[in-house]
Amino acid sequence: MEPPTPNQDLWNAVDHALEAWLAPQDAALIASTSAATAAGLPKIAVAPAQGRLLEVLARAIGARRILEVGTLAGYSAIWLARALPADGMLVTLELDPARAELARENIARARVAPRVEVIAGSATASLEALRTAETPPFDLVFIDANREQCAVYLEHALALSRPGTVIIVDNAIHRGRVIEAGTGDASVDGVRAMMEVIARDPRLAAAGVQTVGAKGYDGFVMLVVGESAATTAPPAQPSDTLDSMLAHDAWATREVLRACATLDDGAWHRAFEIGPGSLHDTLTHIVGAMFRWADRIDGPPRLVRPSIEDGTRRAPAELLALLDLAAAEIAASAARARLRGLATKLDVTLGGTAYRFTLGGMLTHVATHGAHHRAQCLNMLRRLEIAGVSDRLPEIDLLEWELSNPE
Ligand code: SAH
Ligand code: MG
Repeated sequence: MEPPTPNQDLWNAVDHALEAWLAPQDAALIASTSAATAAGLPKIAVAPAQGRLLEVLARAIGARRILEVGTLAGYSAIWLARALPADGMLVTLELDPARAELARENIARARVAPRVEVIAGSATASLEALRTAETPPFDLVFIDANREQCAVYLEHALALSRPGTVIIVDNAIHRGRVIEAGTGDASVDGVRAMMEVIARDPRLAAAGVQTVGAKGYDGFVMLVVGESAATTAPPAQPSDTLDSMLAHDAWATREVLRACATLDDGAWHRAFEIGPGSLHDTLTHIVGAMFRWADRIDGPPRLVRPSIEDGTRRAPAELLALLDLAAAEIAASAARARLRGLATKLDVTLGGTAYRFTLGGMLTHVATHGAHHRAQCLNMLRRLEIAGVSDRLPEIDLLEWELSNPE
């Protein structure tokens, strides 16, 4: 008999069979899906076979602490929590308080409530709070929220990891759209940015898997954090000049963005006859240039990343999140450049003209380029004449950074 041509009906039927053989749902799981449907939630929870995969993985690595980003009604959380020992813990993050509340009810019905904490609110804020609270590292992280921010979630997950932590990012294939460059669709660009972060981070061993099933055509990325991954930030005090310059550069831009946090829209976008023109445009340019130089230093072959200088208006907090990504990329580029030799020359085309630069020169340029434009920002901040801002400009020279670091 000719095998049937794969199609959605067949995938549904096979998923159904896999569920019956390998992933039978009990009354609590079924009830949680009914409750989600009754509440009008979209049908975007993992399928039973996928929930079972999460459970099997969690058991395989003996996970005791699990983090989930994107709870919905708690369906995947129940599968994950069932893999935990009695003293294990699952922390799951959900933007929508009503969904978080429904998830708590579903989780209680499944009798895993003592092992599960559902935190309502923006995942970025919750992840930052977990980092600030210095929560112990997680053994397994399941990222399953909005694709737009998956690179940011991954960065946070890495900071909450230890060597050996397994991270799974769901919905990473997006019906194949992941290979489309320049769509301008933030959900595609978000996944692509994450792929690049992973590709450039020598600490990570990652696999991408395409899947079909009851949820259509999608897939996931699974990675394990390598031995060299310190649990959180890079060492407080790099001993090397280049590392110091790059770490200082990111810190100083962060400080300037923080100084902008309280500005109203008028001040943030006010045009000056200085540099790129406004605080927003100048800081966007600094962060955008970091991404571009990371591309040049690590290319070719390189994937297209979203240009952040595309006219999109972003708040200081959004630029801060992008800056964290850019700084991580530059740090990874510097680590690789060192392996290749900082004196290695590379052909670079800028504005149609071909140049040859050393890797060390390009990396140093990133730091001095930031300093040049930050000086313009400080000038703009002063000229705004806002009490509490213009008279309290951040002190951001390199020795201030050294002093701000403990030890
Ligand atoms: N893991 C769930 C499905 C999650 S669906 C399961 O398989 O059962 C994705 C969820 O992420 C949605 O409920 C959505 O509200 C949530 N989400 C989207 N953006 C978010 C954000 N910025 N912070 C936290 N949660 C977010
Ligand atoms: Mg999903």
